Amino acid sequence: MSAEKTKIKFDPDSYELAAPQKKDLKQLLAVCEQNLDQFEPETVERAFKVTYWSHDGITRASGEPYYLHPVAVAEIVAEEIGMDNVSVIAALLHDTVEDTDVTLDDIRREFGDTVSYLIDGLTKISGVFKTKGTKQAETFMKLLITMAEDLRVVLIKFADRLHNMRTLHHLPRKKQLSIATETLELYAPLAHRFGLFKIKSELEDLSFKALDPTGFKFIARKLREKKEAREAAIHQFMVPIQQQLDGAGFNFEIKGRPKHIYSIYKKMMRQQKPFEEIYDLFAIRIILDEPHSKEDCWRVYSFITDAYTPIPERFRDFISVPKANGYQSLHTTVINNRGQKVEVQIRTRKMDEIAERGLAAHWKYKEGTDKNQGLDRFVRWVREVLENPRPEAATEFVEDFQLNLYTDEIYIFTPKGELRTLPKGATPIDFAFDVHSEIGERALAAKVNGKIVPLRQKLSSGDQVEVITGKQINLNPDWINDVVTHKAKSRIRQFIKQKERKISDSGREAWEKKAERFNLEISEQDLVTVSNKLKYPSMQSMFYAIGSGTMDVNKLVKAVKSFISKGRFEDETEAKTQTGDTPEEFQDQFYDEVKKSSSNSLVLNGLLTDVKYSFSKCCNPIPGDDVVGFISRDGDVKIHRIACNNLRHLIQSDPDRIVDVSWAKQTGNQFVGAIKIIGEDRVGLINDISSVISNSLKTNMKSINVSSDSGSFEGTVIIFVEDLKHLERIIKRILKIDGIKQAYRYE
Ligand code: MN
Repeated sequence: MSAEKTKIKFDPDSYELAAPQKKDLKQLLAVCEQNLDQFEPETVERAFKVTYWSHDGITRASGEPYYLHPVAVAEIVAEEIGMDNVSVIAALLHDTVEDTDVTLDDIRREFGDTVSYLIDGLTKISGVFKTKGTKQAETFMKLLITMAEDLRVVLIKFADRLHNMRTLHHLPRKKQLSIATETLELYAPLAHRFGLFKIKSELEDLSFKALDPTGFKFIARKLREKKEAREAAIHQFMVPIQQQLDGAGFNFEIKGRPKHIYSIYKKMMRQQKPFEEIYDLFAIRIILDEPHSKEDCWRVYSFITDAYTPIPERFRDFISVPKANGYQSLHTTVINNRGQKVEVQIRTRKMDEIAERGLAAHWKYKEGTDKNQGLDRFVRWVREVLENPRPEAATEFVEDFQLNLYTDEIYIFTPKGELRTLPKGATPIDFAFDVHSEIGERALAAKVNGKIVPLRQKLSSGDQVEVITGKQINLNPDWINDVVTHKAKSRIRQFIKQKERKISDSGREAWEKKAERFNLEISEQDLVTVSNKLKYPSMQSMFYAIGSGTMDVNKLVKAVKSFISKGRFEDETEAKTQTGDTPEEFQDQFYDEVKKSSSNSLVLNGLLTDVKYSFSKCCNPIPGDDVVGFISRDGDVKIHRIACNNLRHLIQSDPDRIVDVSWAKQTGNQFVGAIKIIGEDRVGLINDISSVISNSLKTNMKSINVSSDSGSFEGTVIIFVEDLKHLERIIKRILKIDGIKQAYRYE
């Protein structure tokens, strides 16, 4: 704001760095030297000095001086993404305008238009990613426009995020969770879209590590344990191929490709399979070195299919038809000698570089030289779609984006061609509220792609939606069942509540008239007791019943009279619920007991201890699981497992309502855990399972469900356990039973 801040009073040329900073600069220059085709050491040095000087005295959460962050980002830009001189300078300065006294004008004066353009873009898109909710669609659009103008802005942003993720563990847990979630949901898919597979994988793994440390460690450990076996299998598979390749004089490298940790986890979750089964699908990549060309990839393909039987449906030719992000490769899946599926990817060195590092790998920004076709096509395509939202183009755009991006979301176009993001399952009602709550309230009908449709019809990606509104409010309370967005739900609920309030106010009025007439005096608190005795959860709901005519006001008058005269209340209809007649009832009661008794099991970090909390049913946490709390609208705290999918969405939409919780050391309580069991069916198997469980110390079984089909057996057992170790102990014992092939925790 102040005038003296418009110019930095700093002359980098006459500034002397101290020894440690000199060392850091030297290292950065060495990285540039090694990775950049051409670069200007003096300019890099000046940018280094400006960033050091402007962030001086500021430290990061790790305690390190701040300037080390932009320097690390610059190194990632040079080394891992393979960008250019200007990008390195922009990376060094990327936080200056936003966080320090340095202005964009200063940058322009010192480093020229391009750098200042990039910094401006970086400062702007940091706002894009901060914006949440309904604004996201528009800002996402703007982001795309920025991308189309100069992709370097986005690439530097990835480098920035990557370094922040690598140093994430220094931040408070709550922050870690929200940054990791954002990375997983926004940055990683975008990195994928750009073809930056290595960075995408690392972002995903780092996010996963922060979100679910136990799950991460588990898979990492398993991967280490299986390393040798995997290498042996790859070696065996390659023996016949190697001979052929050597014989034909091929220059090549073989990579046994362990899938990255998060992708293994995702597969385990999606297919509900244990690690071993996911892992068995191993994958090999054959990379042909120069001077081999794409024709040679086909020759390698024929060597492989000569030696092993291919699965035809799994063949993919991304060489003739590259993906939009530039990815090229041949994919095939064959069966090895042991009957296992092996995925093989064949590509040249150049294709591999592009696959790992993205288009930036061979996009050298040189003027005049032949520009990369793939990149040009990508940029042109984004522009075209943005400038010309014809329905067909929009659909293509959406389809392509959907492949890699938000699969839980759909893209909807307004009549003006503006893009909006909605969750899957959204209806025109959601859309209407998303545009404006007034449009939602007045919606009468909707036109989807030019045709009138019911407001409740589910939308699909690419639909162009127009809402037809009336002059008056037309909100229908039943819509609550037809909407999925928070905005629509809360507005409809509010509407229902207002309506209910009117009705219950009229009920209260009716009561007050009677009370006056019969001269009845009763405190509000006693009235609550009376309403409870009359089986209403609250006084409000009783008045609602009176107001809507489902209860006669005279019944209340009678009840109050009786309450006053006897000082207590007699109700003939009361003796209804007794303890468990049927096994199910008994179990449900037991379950409730367990839930209640669990109330001393958690420590809410940094919060008062008398906060009400409960365990979410979607993921059934057990002591030992990594958990967090989420403050619900009613103010109580729901405990979720960190791995819970619902939680992901909650964190994304409302990060401020996350609370850090951990388990108390000893709980002595019981929790619900489910185990999936797969094996060979035989006589007495169920008996064996239940006796293993009942013979295990302090274990009660809630239920067992089995189905068997031509000799195979699949079942789910629900038990009460003290903690995760207890559950794991039971699983181990079950695995020892004859005929059991798999037993694992089940959601
Ligand atoms: Mn930064």
